[in-house]
Amino acid sequence: MLDEVVEHAVRDAPNECCGLVIGANRTATGVRPMENLAASPFRFDIDGRELIAFAFADDGEDGLTAIYHSHTRSAPYPSQTDVNFAAGWPGVEWLIVGIPKKGSDAEPEARSYLIEDGTIREVELEVT
Ligand SMILES: [Zn+2]
Repeated sequence: MLDEVVEHAVRDAPNECCGLVIGANRTATGVRPMENLAASPFRFDIDGRELIAFAFADDGEDGLTAIYHSHTRSAPYPSQTDVNFAAGWPGVEWLIVGIPKKGSDAEPEARSYLIEDGTIREVELEVT
C-alpha cells in the first residue's frame, strides 16, 4: 500500500498529490488516492465530503487512519500549513512522501507524523 502511495506521488509530481489511508487501530487496510483540487506544487486541497465520510465511519467499519500528500519542493516534514490542517483532524496520522528533485539519484521518502496541539511527532511506518 505504501508503494501505491509513493507511485501516486511520483505520478502527480511536480504537483503535490493527496489521498487517504483507511484502516483500523493504526493498521492500514486500503489506500484512496484523491484529486488535489488545488493542482499545485505548493499545496493540496482535498474534497472535504469524502474526508468526512471516512472520518465518521460507523463502528466496526474501517475509518480514516492517515491523510497523505507529497512534498515535491521540500523535505517530507509537515509545513505550517500542514500543522494548521492537521489541527482539525486529531488522531489522524499525517503521511508525507518527499519526491526528490528531477535528476537526483535519491529515492522518494515516506514519513508519518502525529500532529497534536501544534506538536509534531514522527511515528514509525511499519510495512508488512
Ligand atoms: Zn505538506
